[in-house]
Amino acid sequence: SPRHAPGRHRTAQDAEGFRRDAKKHLGQNFLQDPGVIAKIVLAIDPQPGDRIVEIGPGQGALTLPLLDRHGALAAIEFDRDLLVPLAAAARSHGTLTLLNANVLDVDFSALGGDAQIRLVGNLPYNLSSPILFHALDHAAAIRDMHFMLQKEVVERMAAAPGSKVYGRLSVMLQAYCAVTPLFNVPPGAFRPAPKVDSAVVRLVPRVAADIGIDDPAGFAQVVRAAFGQRRKTLRNALSGVADGAMLEAAGLRADARAEQLSVADFIRLANLRTPA
Ligand code: SAM
Repeated sequence: SPRHAPGRHRTAQDAEGFRRDAKKHLGQNFLQDPGVIAKIVLAIDPQPGDRIVEIGPGQGALTLPLLDRHGALAAIEFDRDLLVPLAAAARSHGTLTLLNANVLDVDFSALGGDAQIRLVGNLPYNLSSPILFHALDHAAAIRDMHFMLQKEVVERMAAAPGSKVYGRLSVMLQAYCAVTPLFNVPPGAFRPAPKVDSAVVRLVPRVAADIGIDDPAGFAQVVRAAFGQRRKTLRNALSGVADGAMLEAAGLRADARAEQLSVADFIRLANLRTPA
């Protein structure tokens, strides 16, 4: 069987000798392509002492090669059915600390002790945005992130002002992180194959002092309001959140539209508000 092709890592599924169905509602598309897996491990480039935390290890497609490289790893998996076969498969590769939890309930700040963690994962695409925003909430505890996501989401994350896909996700991610798209991955690299193209992205949280956002909740509110009604002018979209005088003080035209504002513009505007 092709799953036992030479050079391919044994997955948890192989170890158990059975083939289980992927759970669609958990976004289970398991990586199969050894070339793609090797590229991801190379991009992560684990260094001695790194505390790597994987989100959604699944059957171990990334977990086992990372253990081979790094020796130890923590991983957060929601699907109970995967835990026993994954732990069994991992034993001969290194020390895997498995957490059976919903990643959205995990406090990343508590995972690394004093050290920042490095987050990695081929994410469940149905939870991409919640996971990204959850990570932003814990940005100070994270050194960097390497995620496989839907290609269209990576394009939105990295988009520049004026682009059709520039929006809330672009501004929020870029305000807190350096966003670097790395490479695209076709559906055929997974089993089952997703309906969409995928891409791997690197996120490096900025140092808090360099970000310059006075009130994170207020900033998030301004960005949400601005893009909530993206076809309206800024003055109308932001009514109740920022007034004409604030737009003027920020050097912005009241008839401008949200998609024309840079991340720095949003930060300047939000900082003019008095925190509640
Ligand atoms: N890393 C594996 C791979 O590359 O083959 C699996 C990736 S699969 C796209 C997403 C994984 O995330 C699945 O194993 C799924 O069970 C898990 N998952 C889904 N929702 C989750 C959640 N809320 N918390 C933690 N893991 C979750």
